[in-house]
Amino acid sequence: GELGPEQQGLIISHFGRQVDVEVLEGEHQGEIQRCHMRTHLGQLVTGDRVIWRRSADSGVVVAAQERHSELLRPNNHGELKPVAANIDFIVIVIAVEPYAHANLIDRYLVAAEASGIEPVLLLNKADLLDDNNRQRLAPLLEQYRYLGYRTLQASTASSHGLDALKALLADHISVFVGQSGVGKSSLINSLLPGADLKTGALSEQSRKGRHTTTTARLFHFPEGGDLIDSPGIREFALWHMTEDQVLEGFRELAALRGYCRFRDCRHEHEPGCAFLHALDEGLISESRFNSYQQILNSMQDSR
Ligand code: GDP
Ligand code: ZN
Repeated sequence: GELGPEQQGLIISHFGRQVDVEVLEGEHQGEIQRCHMRTHLGQLVTGDRVIWRRSADSGVVVAAQERHSELLRPNNHGELKPVAANIDFIVIVIAVEPYAHANLIDRYLVAAEASGIEPVLLLNKADLLDDNNRQRLAPLLEQYRYLGYRTLQASTASSHGLDALKALLADHISVFVGQSGVGKSSLINSLLPGADLKTGALSEQSRKGRHTTTTARLFHFPEGGDLIDSPGIREFALWHMTEDQVLEGFRELAALRGYCRFRDCRHEHEPGCAFLHALDEGLISESRFNSYQQILNSMQDSR
């Protein structure tokens, strides 16, 4: 049939061979159009920028723009597949409680480094900070700041830090990750008042289409910037990584690679190990080194 002119669009959700495209230009700007995809395009995902054309009863995506980043996740066959595109920040949410284990933070950081997306460490529930837990959490955050990571504090209960967070997220696409109970839903709710994305522009016909609630979805923050969210994305750090990626993810350890006496050094008790030497000299933190060994060991256990 007849197709309308080529237009810019943004994929806000994907379902198999269909996508919801936000119209980025013209009189229908901001509306959402369910589209089919031309088969040569491969798998397009939430966050992809596309060119699409209107058809009689829906739309067709005819071209995809290059991605500057992608979040990959293994499917049931162990193949890595993109689940979201063009993400700028992986916001790792930790909280005053539940207890923020350094090892878990390091896992998230490694996973973020492996995807080439900048991690941001956000300490939530700052309203619960007291002299006791501050003594532990202040040096913890300082350690990551020292390694070059952005760190922020916030409280959805008191609204402390939310303006700084909004300012950081403006003009960027972010995902929020972190263990259950740290306040991800609360944060998202306070950043996205009225939470659910406007779906009013969806036609009745496209509403009836196949719909999985687990698919990643893109939301606009009122102050600018976007969030991509799905239950799967929140579990991000638990996805598969290789041993090389684990080392890459520990910046200060990766910098020592190649300086051990033995090429196949496991950095456990080998003589001439640059890692153990740096540890002895206090140049790298014991907590980070332990995380590194623990993550490698957990990978061996699961083999
Ligand atoms: P999620 O599992 O990461 O999505 O966490 P939720 O958003 O469901 O929050 C878990 C619990 O922490 C809920 O009882 C929230 O009310 C509470 N919570 C969230 N943010 C804050 C905060 O800033 N301060 C305090 N004191 N509690 C919070
Ligand atoms: Zn070594």
